Amino acid sequence: MQTTFTPEQLEQPRIAEANTILRKCVHCGFCTATCPTYVLLGDELDSPRGRIYLIKNMLESGQPATAETVKHLDRCLSCLSCMTTCPSGVNYMHLVDEARAHVEETYKRPLFERLLRDVLAYTMPRPRLFRLSLIGAKLASPLAPLAKSFGATRVAALLGLVPKRMPTPERFGQPGTYEAEGRKTGRVALLMGCVQSVLDPGINAATIRLLTRLGFEVVVSGEEACCGSLTHHMGKEEDALARARRSVDQWTKADVDAVIVTASGCGTTIKDYGHMLRLDPAYAEKAKAISAKAKDITEFLIAQNLPEAKGGMKLAYHSACSMQHGQKIRTEPQKLLRRAGFTVMEVPEGHLCCGSAGTYNILQPEIATRLRDRKVANIESLAPQAIATGNIGCMTQIGLGTGIPILHTIELLDWAYGGPRPEKLA
Ligand code: SF4
Ligand code: SF4
Repeated sequence: MQTTFTPEQLEQPRIAEANTILRKCVHCGFCTATCPTYVLLGDELDSPRGRIYLIKNMLESGQPATAETVKHLDRCLSCLSCMTTCPSGVNYMHLVDEARAHVEETYKRPLFERLLRDVLAYTMPRPRLFRLSLIGAKLASPLAPLAKSFGATRVAALLGLVPKRMPTPERFGQPGTYEAEGRKTGRVALLMGCVQSVLDPGINAATIRLLTRLGFEVVVSGEEACCGSLTHHMGKEEDALARARRSVDQWTKADVDAVIVTASGCGTTIKDYGHMLRLDPAYAEKAKAISAKAKDITEFLIAQNLPEAKGGMKLAYHSACSMQHGQKIRTEPQKLLRRAGFTVMEVPEGHLCCGSAGTYNILQPEIATRLRDRKVANIESLAPQAIATGNIGCMTQIGLGTGIPILHTIELLDWAYGGPRPEKLA
């Protein structure tokens, strides 16, 4: 793709990088076929190629983003399916990150939208505050149908996400150091996480139980609860980078062999810290080192050569976009589950997003619901006894559309290797 940035623009490292990415695109359009929004809406501007053109025009002009460009960029799920398909290696992730930051800096959204985005960006990364707001939202949740009938679809979507039963905090998973059982084989840090630690504290508890049984000492530091992924995807760069720096500091100080992540959306961001902080001389090297240590729990466990076990259930495995497209982890979770004795079925149209995508299911509820229903129909066509996946966002989104129990892969592995039977299977 030809670009026409001025020499002055190209002196800015962020623009220079966008230019390099844009020039790799050969307009072939292969990516359109696997883009969920193009598949649903059929509009070129809601395809990766269309968005790349919009981003090019926006950045080249150096002008504030237009409402039209923002509309189509906001509809992008950041699922990164286009990156898996692209034969030319276009790094759409870094390009859209840059575009979102430009939108955030230059575009004034309508007041309600601004407020909603600010409230989400402030509340969700703070576990205590998030838990309190969930309690408040639960009280208001009977009003969801009313909000919908008045056209307040985002408010309705937000209230619809509130869990029926507030999860009780787990002892395992609170900040602290969890000692290895028996001979110690290593020391790892576990990302406590923000939304996940409130919505489903059992995931980190299962991870700690299994890792300590395998001989690992597990450090959970409360200070880096949120990795910055949520605000990063909203274009709120300052907040995201501050969180990234805090995480890098914590894990550097903890001196661990690996940083274990149980939410694949967060894993994708932490593995990108080296890039996010590349222009910060005080953090560039440290961030790169932490990115290299970041491992999804399944990626870490596959190297542990777990023995065969007798899981015995029929599972549909939903691969989160951040797992398969973001981190390119495509076989490890299924291999682990099969080794643990589960029958694992792949979901048809597995490359398409379920519509969760961070705050997407709140900010773009119509598209998100259509994607969820399509995903649920594909899963239910397999008639599984349970669904396994590796991302809390997908668990919440898919769980709203089906009665089939949905569990994190680690909960099933912990159970198969001696942990308690997950309550969700009761
Ligand atoms: S990230 Fe996903 S939604 Fe966005 S352009 Fe790529 S494939 Fe489409
Ligand atoms: S597949 Fe890659 S090179 Fe082709 S249009 Fe899409 S982003 Fe550009």
